Amino acid sequence: MEKTMGKVTVIVPCYNEEEALPGFFREIRRICDQMKSYEFELLFVDDGSRDRTLELLRQEASEDRRVRFLSFSRNFGKEAAIYAGLEHATGDYVAMMDADLQDPPCLLPEMAEALESNEYDCAAARRVNRKGEPPIRSLFARLFYRLINIVSPDVNIVDGARDFRLMNRRMVEAVLSLKEYNRFSKGIFGWVGFRTKWISFENVERTAGETKWSFWKLFLYSLEGIVAFTTAPLSIAAVMGLVCCFVAFFMILVVIAKTLILGDPVGGWPSLACIILMLGGLQLLCMGIMGRYLAKAYLETKHRPIYLIRETEEDGNKG
Ligand code: UDP
Ligand code: MG
Repeated sequence: MEKTMGKVTVIVPCYNEEEALPGFFREIRRICDQMKSYEFELLFVDDGSRDRTLELLRQEASEDRRVRFLSFSRNFGKEAAIYAGLEHATGDYVAMMDADLQDPPCLLPEMAEALESNEYDCAAARRVNRKGEPPIRSLFARLFYRLINIVSPDVNIVDGARDFRLMNRRMVEAVLSLKEYNRFSKGIFGWVGFRTKWISFENVERTAGETKWSFWKLFLYSLEGIVAFTTAPLSIAAVMGLVCCFVAFFMILVVIAKTLILGDPVGGWPSLACIILMLGGLQLLCMGIMGRYLAKAYLETKHRPIYLIRETEEDGNKG
């Protein structure tokens, strides 16, 4: 028998993926067969799916010893699924990819090759384009990456980077050591550092099923990302307050001077109303920003578990 180069765990978060899973299994098995020198563990994380996803996983796990699964007690979100996968992965190398084949498994051999040399700790995929995506979504995505990289300079978040990556043990342990409740993976991978090799590929459209991300969900997610990785908005709020104070101070001087010279102290009610409205708005905005941070801090201090497991493949084997 050939000597094995180590074990690769592939983490696949699944939320209502019954349509995509059969195709995914076909493709990933093909890749496993291709990478003969590695041992494989396919770790599926069922994120509280309400369709037949869990049933499919049970069946696959009973037929193939490489297949394992964790099933959550409810939908905890993709970030939680990734974290659970990382905690339960036993491989020397750990990969994570979507179930819809938008992260082409055929990049795995190239990624593994990059890690073998020990020069890189991580190989990650990035889309060179966003073909097939609604243009408005692409535009906002671009804006978001610009913005977050300006406001959080020590965490480099690469535009087009997907969560699809292969990491070695060292980096997995590093990611696991960040135990925060509000998880923003893209930021976490950037924050831990390590040497990453970027592998570019053309955007692939979902093979089956549909995306779980509405525009609104993505928008909120991007705000969460900013709050999770930088406190810049708080500084911006403070600076805005300071600027308003200065402007107000000079306006007071102008008003006093005008009253002394020209008289008529009560002119200009409309402008006054506008100023009050604007300042009121600014104050509410700043309070909102502060509130977001406070809410995040509140959730962190509760130390709630990131996910809860209802069933794993071992439960099936016992019965
Ligand atoms: N996913 C998940 N929990 C969720 C939403 C999504 O585990 O609450 C999984 C989903 O099954 C898929 C991956 O995350 O494997 C990416 O989801 P999707 O394809 O909907 O996102 P997109 O590719 O459009 O960004
Ligand atoms: Mg997808």
